[in-house]
Amino acid sequence: MPRRADDRSISRRRLLGAAGATVAASLLPPSAVAAAAAEPAVDYYDKLGVAKIINAAGTYTYLTAAVMAPPVQRAVAMAAHHPVRLKDLQRASGEYIAKRLKCEGAVVSSGASAALTLGTAACVAAKGNLKSNEIPLQARERGYEVIVQKKHRYEYDHAMLICGVTIREVGSLEEYKSAFNERTVMTNYFNSAGPESEPGIIDRETWLKVAHEHGVPCHLDAAADVPPISNLWKYTEMGFDLVCFSGGKGLRGPQNAGLLLGKKRLTDLALENDSPNSDAVGRGMKVAKEQMVGMVAAVDWILEQNDEAIQAESMRRIRTIEAALKGIPTVTTTVNVPPVANHVPHLLIKYDPATVGIKPLEVAAKLRSQKQSIELSPATGVRGRIEGADENTIVVGVWMLQPGEAEIVASSLRQVLKPAKA
Ligand SMILES: *Cc1c(COP(=O)(O)O)cnc(C)c1O
Repeated sequence: MPRRADDRSISRRRLLGAAGATVAASLLPPSAVAAAAAEPAVDYYDKLGVAKIINAAGTYTYLTAAVMAPPVQRAVAMAAHHPVRLKDLQRASGEYIAKRLKCEGAVVSSGASAALTLGTAACVAAKGNLKSNEIPLQARERGYEVIVQKKHRYEYDHAMLICGVTIREVGSLEEYKSAFNERTVMTNYFNSAGPESEPGIIDRETWLKVAHEHGVPCHLDAAADVPPISNLWKYTEMGFDLVCFSGGKGLRGPQNAGLLLGKKRLTDLALENDSPNSDAVGRGMKVAKEQMVGMVAAVDWILEQNDEAIQAESMRRIRTIEAALKGIPTVTTTVNVPPVANHVPHLLIKYDPATVGIKPLEVAAKLRSQKQSIELSPATGVRGRIEGADENTIVVGVWMLQPGEAEIVASSLRQVLKPAKA
């Protein structure tokens, strides 16, 4: 039925009665919307019976990664009040972030994994002049390849494979140099498995130089590699064509957000393969307006922090926990800072379980099941997951603790370790 001019004259009282609060709220003056937002919210974790935990592990996806920094939380809540044109927001957020992070182009993705997919799709599109609806099928038909070092194969390979490419594995520099052919679309470099942590790995500069000699773009996965904050521009400035970061890790943005940074030509192609375009590999990796704004706010937030303060606060928490463990027999503590990813101090608590009367994995289970549930690092009681840890080591990731929680972790650990035998 055609819309009649007098539809507009529909009385507000009738609308309020019939159409429900959402429609009504959009007709109210902004002050009334603000008042409604100030009403106490329902705590759906409580309502659903889902335990709120203390995260003494780190930015793990299964623990919902970071809690958004307070200004990010506020920006997300405010963005929820109004619709916008999604493409306007994509363009404006990309330009803003690119400027702040000193690169040509930026895309807010639904995470680092999605950024890797969009980056791969961009390189596929660039190579074959393909439209979004031709990916993955044309990439597969043409046998397109991404070159990766053997030691850089990882779980996130899947994020590239869904674009229809295959992965060509190389070991030595010689193998790498001879791996390029007319089907090569991209290379991927797993940043935290660089020469600092993987002996024999091809270093970043050499990797880039060889690829660029062949005119092939390089993607670098730096998902978990902030801090240091300067990593946000270090790798694009080094010459990587595309770099991805997770939004929900050190940047403390929304968990379902991330960044693809790099050459504008490629980030533009990444957007063509992204939501809201439906016939695109990225359609299911939708970023809502709230997360897009939240990611921008997270970039603003992280640029106001500094590495020294982050490290100092981590050390304060570690000293708090160490102090609570004084007098527990056989306990020795050390601090480990992983070289690239999760580059923040972790506390390693090593002891003799036979003397103390409880094993690290049993400590983890106890803290998990107590009323105020605590999650210790998954490196607890496992050899080699973090340097220096083994079956007899508790590992505490203090990075994601919220104010007051280091004290709770400290007293809980003391309670569990102390009554045992000694
Ligand atoms: C966490 C991580 C990802 C995935 O990040 P999301 O933002 O969760 O998609 C990808 N690569 C590496 C190396 C990571 O550590």
